[in-house]
Amino acid sequence: MKAQDPSYCPNPSIDAFENALTQFNAAAQKLNLTPNQIAVIQKPRRVIEVQLPVRMDDGSIRLFHGYRVQHNIMRGPAKGGVRFHPDVNLPEVKALAFWMTFKCAVVNVPFGGGKGGVVCDPNELSRNELERLSRRYFAELADIFGPERDIPAPDVGTNPQVMSWFMDTFCMHRKQHVPATVTGKPIALGGSEGRTEATAQGILYTIREAAEQLEINLKKATAAVQGFGNVGSFSAKLLFAEGCKITAISDITGAYTNTKGLDIPSVLDHKKINGSLAGLEQLKGISKLDNPMELLELDVDVLVPAALENQITADNAPRIKARLVAEGANGPIVPAADEILEKRNITVIPDILCNAGGVTVSYLEWVQNRMGYYWNEDRIQEDLQRIMRQSFKDVYDICQESKVSMRVAAFMLAIQRVTEVSELRGLYA
Ligand code: NAD
Repeated sequence: MKAQDPSYCPNPSIDAFENALTQFNAAAQKLNLTPNQIAVIQKPRRVIEVQLPVRMDDGSIRLFHGYRVQHNIMRGPAKGGVRFHPDVNLPEVKALAFWMTFKCAVVNVPFGGGKGGVVCDPNELSRNELERLSRRYFAELADIFGPERDIPAPDVGTNPQVMSWFMDTFCMHRKQHVPATVTGKPIALGGSEGRTEATAQGILYTIREAAEQLEINLKKATAAVQGFGNVGSFSAKLLFAEGCKITAISDITGAYTNTKGLDIPSVLDHKKINGSLAGLEQLKGISKLDNPMELLELDVDVLVPAALENQITADNAPRIKARLVAEGANGPIVPAADEILEKRNITVIPDILCNAGGVTVSYLEWVQNRMGYYWNEDRIQEDLQRIMRQSFKDVYDICQESKVSMRVAAFMLAIQRVTEVSELRGLYA
């Protein structure tokens, strides 16, 4: 199995952790928190950097740099993916771990927030090199991982195969079968039904709820999706199945449009054969945009940024035309752009709610692993739908009552849940 597509960070100068703190502060000031409560909750609990020497196929040794950040572990073990990408950096991993804390709290799963990353381009590595790197990363951090401590999952550049190597490495160290130590595993190894498409499924559930509020009929709506990896491709597939006309999609190779609507099943076939969207413009009715960022500014009802962070900035926010933006990716909208979109009456379903379907089914996977009993797809879908709809309602109610954006409302809900358990637990020693 090949690792997921490589991708690039278009705005590496933007500090994602600073953005995350700005989002947090906007909500924290609406709550009666003490300066100490704010300080404790803002800072990551643990930040670990590791050097990973890996033997390459040609016999040479290459040193990779890896991270694991546990942001807050008051509500449960740290939970969050591991990213393999050339642009991985500490502020990004800190931001992603931070968002995980609040995402888990929004959907009320009993986890804290964590995230990891390795600076590498998985597509430049052979399968054997990728396996050795994955195992070395997990072995280096084996003391902090575990079902009651810190539970990784896939993120950009990692996939169920990488999770299998992670799990096997951990089991070899422990001399025990411990499937609950990672989620997003293949089903044969204790993965959950529905995990692969869970993030997109959750996105669809929140889009449905928001569309109802905004009186958007999804069967007549148009949509554009940025990114065509796990989150983007399944989002496009599900929105297409919902009846939406998907007029534009993109990946690292460019953005592709068809004003009459793309036939997503054929696009998925194309990607399966070619590994990416490259060459899609050769299919009838499809053209390639000169500037892929223009996808974000197309005249559609629903926009799903599902690639990387920092995509919608103060620069392009005034030109966004969608009525509803569903954050499939983590942190695709920077705070300055949030303000502009809010003033322009564009509804944003924030990442910590919108893309929480992945961690929700990861939670169900972890529960099943610990029980040693496995549910069918219907049971998973039922739980996922219930949790996502309830979470949307919880956030929407705060949004209406407090007259704040959905993002501020989601953070308010999550901060309250994290501070409640912190107060109950008190300070050790
Ligand atoms: P992925 O590696 O499967 O896919 C990323 C996609 O984005 C690829 O198609 C890549 O070509 C494309 N891409 C990268 N840069 C781009 C750009 N500038 N313009 C257009 N396309 C670009 O990763 P993924 O798992 O789908 O994750 C995508 C985002 O969703 C990340 O922000 C991730 O943290 C977030 N997320 C993922 C999950 C999950 O379960 N996988 C859950 C929650 C959030």
